[in-house]
Amino acid sequence: MLNRAQAFDALARLLTQVAGDAPAAVLLVRVQRMRDIELSFGYEVAESLAHELERRLRDVLRPGDTLVRTGESDLLVLLPHLHGRAHAALAAAKIVRALQAPVSTATGDVHPLVLVGGALCPEDGDTPELLCRRADRACDDAAVNVERVAFWRAPPIPLEAVQAALRAAITANQLQLHLQPIQRMADGRIVSYEALSRWTHPVLGAVPPALFIGVAERSGQIVDLTRWTLNVGLRHLAELRRVDPEVRLAVNLSVEVLQLPGFVDQVFDLMRLWCVPPNGLMLEVTESALMRDVGQCERLLAALRAGGVRVAIDDFGTGYSSMAYLHRLPVDTLKIDRSFIQEMATDARARRLVGTMIELAHHLGLGVVAEGVETPESLAQLSALGCDHIQGYLIGRPAAAEDVVAAALASVAAVSPGR
Ligand code: C2E
Ligand code: MG
Ligand code: MG
Repeated sequence: MLNRAQAFDALARLLTQVAGDAPAAVLLVRVQRMRDIELSFGYEVAESLAHELERRLRDVLRPGDTLVRTGESDLLVLLPHLHGRAHAALAAAKIVRALQAPVSTATGDVHPLVLVGGALCPEDGDTPELLCRRADRACDDAAVNVERVAFWRAPPIPLEAVQAALRAAITANQLQLHLQPIQRMADGRIVSYEALSRWTHPVLGAVPPALFIGVAERSGQIVDLTRWTLNVGLRHLAELRRVDPEVRLAVNLSVEVLQLPGFVDQVFDLMRLWCVPPNGLMLEVTESALMRDVGQCERLLAALRAGGVRVAIDDFGTGYSSMAYLHRLPVDTLKIDRSFIQEMATDARARRLVGTMIELAHHLGLGVVAEGVETPESLAQLSALGCDHIQGYLIGRPAAAEDVVAAALASVAAVSPGR
């Protein structure tokens, strides 16, 4: 690449503009047979062809898009604020159409042969280097595709390989813990943090939690993973409680782990180890997992609660729990799934549904956390509906636990510099 530094700078700027629901695309536009054209038509013709293609490309781009020439035959296009993968594919197809039209030169018409390889941010990568490599890799697929367009596709990885890599990562302490704040509506205070595991594999890159948690659950590694999350989470909570002694930690619990003999005692042992009182911990169990074996879950959750640990039903609204169970289950909080919160913005029925869930929770004496709050409008609606707590990108994205603790300690140092 001739212009890598410039391209990476532009890409890094683009990455800062990527919003949760509006992905960006990196397209590598490659003109093929450039050397052939140089040798058949002359260097001057090849050069004016390159200029003409660049001009056409600029013509089809939107005002906020960026174009960087990265090589003699390569142009990098950065498209922010897309509606999704299909939108990026349409843009790529439009580029191919505009660039493939013949170009008249003094020595006759030249038929440019163009291909476009693309990668989406953040889905396919979130660093300039990775996005460029993946768009480049997609160019190889585009070359054998009649449409002349291809997007990066994750290579299928054998499940056993993921299991082995995850086992190695847990053993070598290579997972990271992120914390996401949960805010109390009444006074805007951050009253707890949810612990979310992250795994970045040296080759696969960032593995989505939904994928590796599923793998861990099926292979039994979820036990070690949960122990790791609890241990690291409580260690950070102990630090955070030096700043705010009331703050809590929420940890996701797979039912497989809850059912492990001795697990309840292990939770209390860990809390003693980190000198965190039981009410500093909230365990989240998804509604669908709970419903698979209500009887046993009920007994084990009751034992945790008897010791002072709080319990929440996670992703509430997606798991078909019946009213009878809800009344019986030993829980403190319902976390309304983010799909309802996100639909609320445009759908009055979803709004009524959320209102009903909040009322139901309050009637049963339970607290409510709304998940996935991304906009001030959702926050206002939830406040009007009487929701107790909110979690989502609007309040804060999950961030490395070390950074969250450092920021909390720095905020106290700033208020009382003598401490
Ligand atoms: P969850 O417990 O429902 O966690 C909330 C998920 O919503 C997180 O996804 C979080 O990043 C995402 N999120 C938070 N706010 C927003 C928002 O405003 N908009 C959108 N679009 N998303 C938001 P993440 O980190 O990918 O985790 C996915 C699931 O993986 C979690 O869902 C949880 O069930 C599971 N998980 C993560 N870490 C662990 C773990 O250590 N142990 C277990 N057992 N499960 C875990
Ligand atoms: Mg959760
Ligand atoms: Mg959830």
